[in-house]
Amino acid sequence: MRVALVTVGDELLAGDTVNTNAAWLGQQLADRGVDVERVTVLPDRTGDIAQVVNEYRAEFDAVIVTGGVGPTHDDVTMDGVAAAFGRDLERSEAALRWLEEEGGYAREDLTDGTADIPAGGEFIRNPNGVAPGCTIGNVYVLPGVPEEMKGMFGVIADEFSGTETHVSTVEADEPESALIDRLIDVQEEFDVTVGSYPGETVTLKISGESESAVENARGWLAGRVDQPE
Ligand code: ATP
Ligand code: MG
Repeated sequence: MRVALVTVGDELLAGDTVNTNAAWLGQQLADRGVDVERVTVLPDRTGDIAQVVNEYRAEFDAVIVTGGVGPTHDDVTMDGVAAAFGRDLERSEAALRWLEEEGGYAREDLTDGTADIPAGGEFIRNPNGVAPGCTIGNVYVLPGVPEEMKGMFGVIADEFSGTETHVSTVEADEPESALIDRLIDVQEEFDVTVGSYPGETVTLKISGESESAVENARGWLAGRVDQPE
């Protein structure tokens, strides 16, 4: 399963907020064997959201959008997603009922627009807050507040699955550029992918669908690179 993540918020682009939602979702999805192939940060602008969501929903199996779903004027994510599908926003009766029955909110106390989602979409309950999310087609819209986003992802997590991948690492105490030939060789020899992440030493991350291929590749590399003491 191939997934694109779209995180919405001017504050993310300005660097005022670190995009922890993308990192957290990326990890959750990778743990489920899902390939995250795009992480895009967008401003709070309807047209940009509509354009990118429309492109990604055609290209990927699923699109997860987070941020900008509250009822305040700067929250335009639902408008953008609705526009991507050529729909209007519509008050979700199911969301209102859920907020009343499970959330303990009186309808009249909710800010106008709180339960608006794209017409034809289905609301997703927010276990840690008020603003509902929604799913329409293969697009999932979650709130920006990290705790709310995590809680809501829990509601839909089962819909994301893929092939289980195995991962193993080797540390190399050599310059990254010196390792290139061995990284090409190991990927030709075994059915694995190797990423190299330089730091104090270079972490070689071997991943693949077959546990034995990953372990064999790990052994092959461990015998051929200088490992730290
Ligand atoms: P609300 O209903 O509270 O308005 P929302 O879905 O509209 O929620 P935002 O207004 O986009 O969410 O952001 C709410 C808070 O969550 C802000 O403090 C914002 O910085 C933070 N936030 C939004 N997106 C992310 C993200 N990708 N990573 C980390 N924090 C985020
Ligand atoms: Mg908001």
